[in-house]
Amino acid sequence: MLIVKNIDTLEKCLGEWKSLGLSVGFVPTMGALHLGHLSLIEQAISENDKVVCSIFVNPTQFTDPKDLENYPIQIEEDLVLLKKVGCDLVFAPTKTDMYPQGEEVVQFNINDLDYLMEGAHRQGHFDGVCTIVSKLFELVRPKNAYFGQKDFQQLIIIRQLNKIQKFNINIVGCPIIREDNGLAMSSRNVLLSPREREIAAEIYRILKETKAKFPNSSLESLKLFVETKLNAVSEFSVDYVEIAHAQTLQSLSDLEKNEPAILCVAVFVGSVRLIDNILLN
Ligand code: AMP
Repeated sequence: MLIVKNIDTLEKCLGEWKSLGLSVGFVPTMGALHLGHLSLIEQAISENDKVVCSIFVNPTQFTDPKDLENYPIQIEEDLVLLKKVGCDLVFAPTKTDMYPQGEEVVQFNINDLDYLMEGAHRQGHFDGVCTIVSKLFELVRPKNAYFGQKDFQQLIIIRQLNKIQKFNINIVGCPIIREDNGLAMSSRNVLLSPREREIAAEIYRILKETKAKFPNSSLESLKLFVETKLNAVSEFSVDYVEIAHAQTLQSLSDLEKNEPAILCVAVFVGSVRLIDNILLN
């Protein structure tokens, strides 16, 4: 496995592969890798000749400096996992490589998708995400790029970014990988105490319970049901509950209930903010 820390070396390796006609799959990450990330790498390996994984904790997508400060970094462990799974190249640039002019963000026209849910609660987050993903897409120019449905809104926004920037990359959405107790895997889970980790599993139980009610309840009552259930857990503080169109992310009204619907939540468990979602139909 090649470990590449600067852009020139990355371009040289990619140039060699592309001159041989090899297809490249790309998995951008912020490291602190778990089985969720590895499932993306595995899918990329099965669909491409070569796989690049980037590890970069992107400062411009953090809206809370404390969150950035506490973000877990474990590059050595990450490299062991990536090598074991069969990744071909890890790109781990420095902040100066990615932001030579300082932490500037670009504003993309992503159809106001960034004003909803995560965007509304973490202002500027998706400008940071789109800025770094654009820079990485321009460098790697993969055939396929892999993103988890865990960050559902991010996946929809990246699809839009790909379209408006004409990257012409095939954006692949991958299923959410969960702990045995149902908790969606996340790099932030290591910040939870063992007890919080157990309690946090209640989020997915509530999502599943809501899905079972979907065919027979109004969207308004479903939203209320989720909020009430989540608020009943004393360790939780609910950031938002949304039911949206699963392709456009626009709010659904009852009249549109035959449209694909996704239930998305963000919940603080102690000081750790977790997100999760479930397709309702
Ligand atoms: P991150 O390192 O948090 O930026 O995540 C990198 C990629 O891994 C993103 O596309 C995430 O959606 C994806 N990802 C994170 N957690 C999971 C999970 N539990 N299951 C599937 N994909 C995930």
